[in-house]
Amino acid sequence: MNERIYLSPPCMLGRERQLLLDAFDSNWIAPLGPHVNAFENEFAQRVGMKHAAAVSSGTAALHLALLLTGVGPGDRVVTSSFTFAATANAIKYVSAEPVFVDSEWTSWNMDPNLLRECLQKCRSENRLPKAVLTVDILGQCCDYASIQAICSEFELPLIEDAAEALGATYQNRPAGSFGDIACFSFNGNKIITTSGGGMLVTNSADRAAKARHLATQARDPAPHYEHSEVGYNYRLSNLLAAIGRGQLEVLDEHVRRRRGIFEVYQNALSERPGLTLMPEIPGGKSTRWLTVLLIDPQKFGEDRESVRQRLEAANIESRPAWKPMHCQPIFQGCEFVGGNVSLQIFEQGLCLPSGSSLSWEQQKRVIEVLLGSTR
Ligand SMILES: *Cc1c(COP(=O)(O)O)cnc(C)c1O
Repeated sequence: MNERIYLSPPCMLGRERQLLLDAFDSNWIAPLGPHVNAFENEFAQRVGMKHAAAVSSGTAALHLALLLTGVGPGDRVVTSSFTFAATANAIKYVSAEPVFVDSEWTSWNMDPNLLRECLQKCRSENRLPKAVLTVDILGQCCDYASIQAICSEFELPLIEDAAEALGATYQNRPAGSFGDIACFSFNGNKIITTSGGGMLVTNSADRAAKARHLATQARDPAPHYEHSEVGYNYRLSNLLAAIGRGQLEVLDEHVRRRRGIFEVYQNALSERPGLTLMPEIPGGKSTRWLTVLLIDPQKFGEDRESVRQRLEAANIESRPAWKPMHCQPIFQGCEFVGGNVSLQIFEQGLCLPSGSSLSWEQQKRVIEVLLGSTR
């Protein structure tokens, strides 16, 4: 049996191990320490925001972002339907209601026209949402020229879920710099990983301080344990922050490799009838975190699920693109604005092995199996 090819395994390229051992040997084996502080500073600088708070996961960052925005029970939050469940779950954590908006074909992210339509309707019914929560899906920023203008027009705070888009840019600005608050993830399959972890970034010193406060059990300044609100245990370990620093130093190399992998797939696959790859938004540079292939079953002669099973039989991991939230059992009955774009991306979309450590030989094997030449 061939060695298994994974979708997006961790890839350590630089000083990660050295920094981890430094953290270990310093005995700062705690959810605070010099590597946490340094990681926060280096990260904020990288994404062009003034402050960063390191947390235990991207989901924790999203939860805190909603709390900091004042979203609470009964509030509505407009978000993208085409995302991972963590985005929408975080809205539920604060007992608010998600309103899902469909994708546009140009970026696969939230369609600005539908967002406007949705907000106009909300305003006419006098029930505007408390915030807009965009998602930069699969390594690519949204159309922020439009979305930021719409948020200003309706005077709504913008939260950016950039968990999948660290390293991407739009109009030469980094992913994570478009919202009032943005959230990142360092889960095992993300473009950089700490095994698990997340980051919240903002230009507001107060919000960053509040995020750290809430993430540390909301302990008030006092020699004893004094608490005047509900807190969480969401801080990132100093050991993991050390790995994160090492990974951040080589982020550009990860982006370069993933874009290279995309290009190889593009050249090998896009000539075939029925196969197209995820587009890149005009003015934006995607990290190509995952290469996603759309398979039109009529034209290709085989559907996405059958291709996925053939790859699996050859010990190659691939995965359907995110199933939209408005089609998930848990979010049934939630409002949805749009048509069939995200659903069609789900039905036809297959994420291909895209890890930064994917070799040319491995990629060749994926392409051969996919095109059926070794069937
Ligand atoms: C991975 C991911 C998250 C959650 O991050 P975790 O670190 O796994 O909690 C949130 N949103 C999106 C879009 C993601 O892909």
